[in-house]
Amino acid sequence: MDKERSACSCQSGQNYDDCCAPLHQGAAAADAERLMRSRYSAYVLQKIDYIVATTVPAQQHLLDKRDLLNWSRNTQWLGLDVLRHLPGKQHAQVEFAAHFAEAGEARVHHELSAFVRIDGRWYFIDPTVPLPTMKQPCFCGSDKKFKACCGQFFK
Ligand SMILES: [Zn+2]
Ligand SMILES: [Zn+2]
Repeated sequence: MDKERSACSCQSGQNYDDCCAPLHQGAAAADAERLMRSRYSAYVLQKIDYIVATTVPAQQHLLDKRDLLNWSRNTQWLGLDVLRHLPGKQHAQVEFAAHFAEAGEARVHHELSAFVRIDGRWYFIDPTVPLPTMKQPCFCGSDKKFKACCGQFFK
């Protein structure tokens, strides 16, 4: 009962065990904001496999796990502000500011991220690795062209 449980680093105000831990263990995130928060806390905890697993499957092989691990290790994570969540059934966007320090210098990473739901699970679309061209079939498996599907967030 008195067991000390640490606050989740995604800054939800909940304990890790009640917050991001179940997601890190494989539970599906209820929405894109939850997924985004759990990805932030995964960076803090250096759970790089989770970062990869929650990126659009078609992009996963493009991620450099060693780079991600080095970056998460060499970064001092200072906090997360979720600024906006634009929810949807298949697509969602989350605007956030991630605070961190690199080589002793405080920095903010501000991003409006796009997420897509595939087979009931939300995935992050990583804009830093190659995306399909606008005329190609979308990589989420929707049978639409990229521009009419996930590409709408990258025009
Ligand atoms: Zn959390
Ligand atoms: Zn798509």
